[in-house]
Amino acid sequence: MGAAYDTVIIGAGAAGLTAGIYASRANMHTVLLEKLVPGGQAALTAFVENFPAFPGGISGFELMERMRKQASEFGLEIKTAEVTSITKTDGLFTLGTNVEELTTKTIIVCTGVRPRKLGVPGENELFGRGVSTCATCDGALYRDREVAVIGGGDSAIDEGIYLTRFASNVHIIHRRDRFRALHSLVEKARENPKIRFHLDTVITAVNGSGSVKSLALKNVKTGGESVLPVAGVFLYIGLVPNSEMFRGILDLNEEGFITVDRTLATSVPGIFAAGDVRDTPLRQIITAAGDGAVAAYSAGKYLEKIG
Ligand code: NAP
Repeated sequence: MGAAYDTVIIGAGAAGLTAGIYASRANMHTVLLEKLVPGGQAALTAFVENFPAFPGGISGFELMERMRKQASEFGLEIKTAEVTSITKTDGLFTLGTNVEELTTKTIIVCTGVRPRKLGVPGENELFGRGVSTCATCDGALYRDREVAVIGGGDSAIDEGIYLTRFASNVHIIHRRDRFRALHSLVEKARENPKIRFHLDTVITAVNGSGSVKSLALKNVKTGGESVLPVAGVFLYIGLVPNSEMFRGILDLNEEGFITVDRTLATSVPGIFAAGDVRDTPLRQIITAAGDGAVAAYSAGKYLEKIG
């Protein structure tokens, strides 16, 4: 095993890459571990309109590629590895991964979130065969076909609008008659002639064999049942924190998000959490990036304190 790192960052989304920029630039001996590819959820976002300094917007993929490049310019080492265990002895953390074992004085957890699933019949069987959680990845497969988007938050409305580039019609299906999404986004969707809303409506099954053919719907107010023929269904029903491996190690809130103080310190001294995986009122690329900066700074302060 090599010399202990000053900090190991887990996860290469907006929080992790920004933490990497700040830690590397501060000459901290740093490695960033990512189990998949850098970019996180943001890289799967079709178009980002609200990240400052990009008038006219930027694709999520390009924005995250720029963050990765900038981190590399400061010498950040990024390794593909999945963390499987964390132990602490004599003030040093040992991280087990599927590749190697690492030791470090601090850890910055930036493991983010993943899409929630509906839990209805047909969903798992048809996942990747018409059921998707990524319009950017799969939207172009549905040129001139009918698709559905489930959810009433920013993601559902944003991605629903994006899908109108390809699909003949986009059915936005939401379980209530009020939206969590920004009013201005909902208005933009209402003005789009390809978008049809199905409110107070839930999905009871995804139908099809080999590929999605239709959705079984139920109106929660009238109890009325119907079948909507669609070739694809995109789930945007919220986010689940990737925090399972920290259960029993770090304090989590009741939804599983990591609780932190104002310096982004977790319940274990030396471990910090940043971005979507932490308990926070707002989950945006800019807030994740801001968190990454704070967490790297706080880890640096902690290193000064322990000497
Ligand atoms: P979200 O805000 O949590 O919204 C999830 C939506 O799915 C809600 O409308 C919810 O309905 C519905 N839902 C949850 N569980 C369901 C179930 N089992 N069955 C049916 N519907 C269900 O999630 P999100 O839209 O992915 O957004 C996550 C975060 O990212 C938010 O902070 C959002 O602001 C941010 N974001 C921002 C932008 C942007 O600024 N452009 C874009 C994308 C995401 P209820 O409303 O009834 O609970």
